[in-house]
Amino acid sequence: MSSETRDKIRLMAEAIKQGAKMLSDLCPYCSVPLFRIDDEVRCVVCNRRIILVKGDEEERRAKAAVALIELRDILEGKIKQLNMELPGLSLEELRYHLEILELLLRVLSETNKLIEKLLPGGGL
Ligand SMILES: [Zn+2]
Repeated sequence: MSSETRDKIRLMAEAIKQGAKMLSDLCPYCSVPLFRIDDEVRCVVCNRRIILVKGDEEERRAKAAVALIELRDILEGKIKQLNMELPGLSLEELRYHLEILELLLRVLSETNKLIEKLLPGGGL
């Protein structure tokens, strides 16, 4: 058995020990069985969430959700970046930053609503 195979088995065994349920579906990236962990389907080897789809419509929705999740991550990153800059700003700069922050928060809120609609129960 290669050490790579041993590592995969070790990761899957750990998941089972922690109460994850092994599924009959395989990871599209590395072909090991997927696990259900806390209402999410995950590949423990790739360490990423997998969205299982049954038909074209579901696939379309899943792709849209993934795009929205990427957008959410970018927005959250920008908000963090702005937050870190806030303490050093003059009042005039603060006003400008807060306007951008307000806009980012509004778009983030709408993005989260759309993600929730496409993937009830949470994002990635
Ligand atoms: Zn995988």
